[in-house]
Amino acid sequence: MAEPWDLVVIGGGSGGLACAQRAARHGARVAIAEPGPLGGTCVNAGCVPKKLMYHAADVAHALVDAADYGFALESVRHDWAALKTRRDAYVERLRGIYADNLARSGATLLRAHARLAGPGCVEIGSTTHAARHVVIATGGRPAVPAVPGAEAGITSDGFFALESRPNTVAIVGSGYIAAELSGVFAALGSRVTVVMRHDRMLRSFDEMLAARLAAAMQADGIEIAPAARPAALERRPRGLMLSLEDGRSLGPFDCLVWAIGRKPDVAGFGLAETGIALGPDGEIATDPRQDTNVAGVHAIGDVTGRNELTPVAIAAGRRLADRLFGGEPDARLDYRLIPTVVFSHPPIGTVGLSEAAARAEYGDAVEVFRHDFMPLYHGVTARRRRAEVKLVTTGPSRRIVGLHAIGMGADELLQGFAVALRLGATKRDFDDTVAIHPTSAEELVTLPG
Ligand code: FAD
Ligand code: NDP
Repeated sequence: MAEPWDLVVIGGGSGGLACAQRAARHGARVAIAEPGPLGGTCVNAGCVPKKLMYHAADVAHALVDAADYGFALESVRHDWAALKTRRDAYVERLRGIYADNLARSGATLLRAHARLAGPGCVEIGSTTHAARHVVIATGGRPAVPAVPGAEAGITSDGFFALESRPNTVAIVGSGYIAAELSGVFAALGSRVTVVMRHDRMLRSFDEMLAARLAAAMQADGIEIAPAARPAALERRPRGLMLSLEDGRSLGPFDCLVWAIGRKPDVAGFGLAETGIALGPDGEIATDPRQDTNVAGVHAIGDVTGRNELTPVAIAAGRRLADRLFGGEPDARLDYRLIPTVVFSHPPIGTVGLSEAAARAEYGDAVEVFRHDFMPLYHGVTARRRRAEVKLVTTGPSRRIVGLHAIGMGADELLQGFAVALRLGATKRDFDDTVAIHPTSAEELVTLPG
């Protein structure tokens, strides 16, 4: 066997690339195994193509509002296939940029499937490599329910492969992907039904966000089917029919998207043989330093089942490389106060505790400040979507422990406010900050109380 690598990274997605590049820059000898397209889920079937579709939906909304802003538009037609071609070309360019950046970092890309082959040993393709450290960054895959006929539906991966827009779509789920894709389909002209097993979207988020989002979805013509648990999916001549556990059936649909979460990708690469412990949902169990139970084997990103977000995978990977090779023995990702955006229509920005979670943790010390308003943009439009913000504070100092916003601009405004929360900002700090007018963000620093 050749001289051992300092680090072998399994998976060239967001987390794996970030970890490999940072380690190589620290001077480590690094190999990274990736048989598929570089960039993993985010670049190829996640954040990037999704955000372009989100922008397409924004453009569709702007076209609806255009007449109210004095534009006389001739008939407007949307060409899904043309958008897909441009989107795919952009993703292809991005893969090239990722490959260049990786090469520049000095890490070696090995274009093959990897599997753990024993302590400090990784089989990549047909070659066995020795490694002082191994980082597992294999991400996850969309979950598909175990109901008869489920394979007639698609997942978010299939969404990005669609060559044309289905006229009628069912989206099963109530999380990020259901919220985001339902908005895209509806804005571009599809009739959408969101099928959820409980009674609201985004159940783990602050209740205000779910209520306001449901109102906006319904205003956009999206049908919501609550308390609907799938039992079977069947392709009939008129389209897909979804049978529910309670005997009802929904459809026909041209397309059905399963959006019920993702499963960590842990199969077929030697975890059991190596004795690596899994958590309750099949994720690789890691401690706060991203270490598994096996010495020298670490895991980052979606495969660890924590905050399945690209910047989280990247940050965990970089901190780990800093700890192992950068002389920073205490480096590790702090998983508290991670901001997140749902690119729904309108978008949602949220960081910290929901009101319910704060009350469970801090009881009567919690105070809530909220305001709903019509964004100025809609002052002249017939299409009107209200926005809403909420601050959740605790204690006499009114330290802000949760900040929630839904409405135009909620996505872009969140990042700066997340910094303020990390610094321990109080309601008083917000009140003392001079507003920027006229914006939606100013509503967060002008809340009465
Ligand atoms: P991945 O990016 O999934 O990379 C894992 C890589 O490992 C893959 O390339 C795979 O081919 C490779 N691999 C697997 N097994 C092996 C093996 N045995 N050997 C070698 N290689 C292997 N996050 C956000 O922050 N913002 C968003 O807007 C956002 N939008 C999303 C939209 C969708 C539709 C989806 C599905 C996800 C979205 N996410 C978003 C989540 C984000 O994409 C993931 O959190 C992120 O990609 C996780 O990175 P990762 O490195 O853990 O895994
Ligand atoms: P989510 O975890 O966001 O939501 C899935 C939801 O589906 C669950 O919360 C659950 O809601 C419901 N569900 C679970 N199992 C079933 C079932 N068997 N039948 C019906 N409903 C079910 O997963 P997504 O698939 O939407 O997205 C996967 C992950 O990707 C996200 O968690 C997120 O981390 C990441 N992502 C991030 C984005 C962003 O940053 N903007 C965008 C897209 C994805 P309930 O319990 O209420 O029924």
